This record gives sequence, C-alpha cells and structure tokens, in this order.
Amino acid sequence: MPDPADTSAATLVVVDVQNDFCPGGALAVADGDAVVPLVNRIARRFGVRVYTQDWHAADHRSFASSHPGASPFSTTEMSYGMQVLWPDHCVQGTPGAEFHPGLDLEPADLILRKGFRPHVDSYSAFYENDRVTPTGLAGYLRERGIASVWLAGLATDFCVHYSALDAVRLGFRVTLVEDACREIDLDGSHAAALAAMGEAGVAFVRTAEFAA
Ligand SMILES: [Zn+2]
Repeated sequence: MPDPADTSAATLVVVDVQNDFCPGGALAVADGDAVVPLVNRIARRFGVRVYTQDWHAADHRSFASSHPGASPFSTTEMSYGMQVLWPDHCVQGTPGAEFHPGLDLEPADLILRKGFRPHVDSYSAFYENDRVTPTGLAGYLRERGIASVWLAGLATDFCVHYSALDAVRLGFRVTLVEDACREIDLDGSHAAALAAMGEAGVAFVRTAEFAA
C-alpha cells in the first residue's frame, strides 16, 4: 500500500480521457466519463500531472477500415506482433480526439500525444506497441526527479494496462487508481490486465483512500 502522502512527489498520468472513449464516442468505454470528476478531484495532489491523448492519422493501420474486409475488434499480425483492429477513433483534429469537455486540463504539466505514427499503434504512455519506440515520457519524468507513477483513465485493460507494465519495467513505482479507470473488457481482457498488473507489483488504490 503506497503512502498517500507520496502523491506530492509522484506523477499522475491521466490516460486518454477523450471524447471517442466516452459514451457516444467511436470507441466508447462503458461509463468512461465517470472518471472525469475523480481525475479532476485528485490531480492537484500530485507533483507532476501528465495527460495523454491518442492521436491517429485518418488511415492509421490499427483501424479495421485500413484492412479491407476486416471487422472492428478482430485481430491481425503487425510487424511487432498481434494487433486488435479498432473502429476509427481519435483521428487528429476531430472532435472525437479532443479531451472530454469536463476534464480540467489546467493542472497539466504535459500533454503527451501518442499513436501518431501511421504504422504502429500506441497503447502505452511510454512506448509504442513495438515496445521499443519511446514516447519520451520516461525521460521527462526522470529529469523531473519522479520515481512514482500513478495511473488513471481509459481504458484499464489496454492503454492503462500497457502504461503500468512499461512503467514497472522502466523502474518506476506504480499505483493504479482503480475507481478512476474504466475498462473495455474484450474477451476477458479486464481480468487478465488486473492479474498481470498485480503480478508485476502494481499497487491498487481507490480515490477515497487518499483523497476523501
Ligand atoms: Zn488508438
């Protein structure tokens, strides 16, 4: 259990709280907008606040529409391994790519865009899905003297999950703010993600435990 007082020396990484991942969006996560007030409530407790933004070209290779005959949520082999094919979402410059209008961005130290390389998807805030192309976030946090990363946002079982595992791999202490996340849950992906994060040493907390 992390020390709640630790938040002032930690970073909060808010993952992809964008219109397309909220109800009514192109890749809506059930109840996704429920994270907005929680994130807004906790953000200022953290020493550093980073907000990620999925930011795809219109012909991104992770879109089913870029693969003739493929349906959304099927999978394909990319050069870097298995890739889920998504409905078109978070296309650069579209309303779906904008942050949820209720999300308070004033506390943001950094807004980090990811997924803009047309041939590789980017779930993690730290690496593209090839697991070797960095976003630069680890360097940013290290230069800011951050050792502890807390995660919230969308979706628990994809972008948050990959971010958490990468952060562990990079040597950060990692905490997931469970109630400030929501999941897609594709074929049991939520349970699998929670198990993998737990096994990797990720701590789980709820907002009420440190921000009553
Ligand atoms: Zn995406």
